[in-house]
Amino acid sequence: MNKIVVLTGAGISAESGLKTFRDTGGLWEGYNVEDVATPEAWHRNPALVQEFYNQRRKNVLEAEPNAAHYALAKLEEKYDVTIITQNIDDLHERGGSTKVVHLHGLITRSQSSKNPALTYPIEGWELKMDEVCELGSPLRAHVVWFGEAVPMIETAAKICQQADIFILVGSSLAVYPAAGLVNYVPRNVTKYIIDPKIPYLSQQGHFIKIEEKAMVGVPLLVSELMSFELLNFEF
Ligand code: NAD
Repeated sequence: MNKIVVLTGAGISAESGLKTFRDTGGLWEGYNVEDVATPEAWHRNPALVQEFYNQRRKNVLEAEPNAAHYALAKLEEKYDVTIITQNIDDLHERGGSTKVVHLHGLITRSQSSKNPALTYPIEGWELKMDEVCELGSPLRAHVVWFGEAVPMIETAAKICQQADIFILVGSSLAVYPAAGLVNYVPRNVTKYIIDPKIPYLSQQGHFIKIEEKAMVGVPLLVSELMSFELLNFEF
């Protein structure tokens, strides 16, 4: 089975009603990221940060996967597919994908503010300020904040090195180290990018550009890839 690696960003969930980050002028739901998505913000005003992520979690729980998430899941019928997502939502899993690496965490889980390896499921949408981990430290959202290490980055880089086909969907490639993953994909691998506003790609080699929203571009590419394999099979 050929291996397809898909790197997704906020754009793939935009049509599910979850706002992207850079499309709204560098603000995230009206907030500067420094005020809600950094360790400094948590130290300065933990209640504000908790409430920000509680609202994001509420949005995620109310959202549904869209045609792009479902189409990527369908690829598993013919390919060995791994999705590496920068998204903190669970729409790939709910869309049926079985191998999903969350680079920036998963908002439906909580994390110890003392030891990031300790994570827990959350009942409902609200994480309260008096909830603590097994070490007695307050629980925060299980997300990677700007300025924090990205524990899954090495695993993700190894997965990119094994790709036979690489697909990038809905990412501005502005957030590092995630954006650097593209450089681990071997140069001879066929690479596709789907985004209504294709970001600048200088060092990353040749991409086949599909300048469409995810709900149009992803199902189109998936149906092409499914018939590719059928053709190969018939020959
Ligand atoms: P980004 O906001 O920086 O860029 C979004 C990209 O998606 C842009 O290139 C834009 O042109 C494209 N886009 C917009 N609408 C689209 C659509 N309908 N179909 C396809 N593409 C579309 O996103 P990023 O590169 O993922 O970086 C933002 C960071 O913020 C991520 O690391 C992520 O953790 C976080 N974030 C996550 C979510 C989520 O989990 N759903 C939402 C917002 C931000």
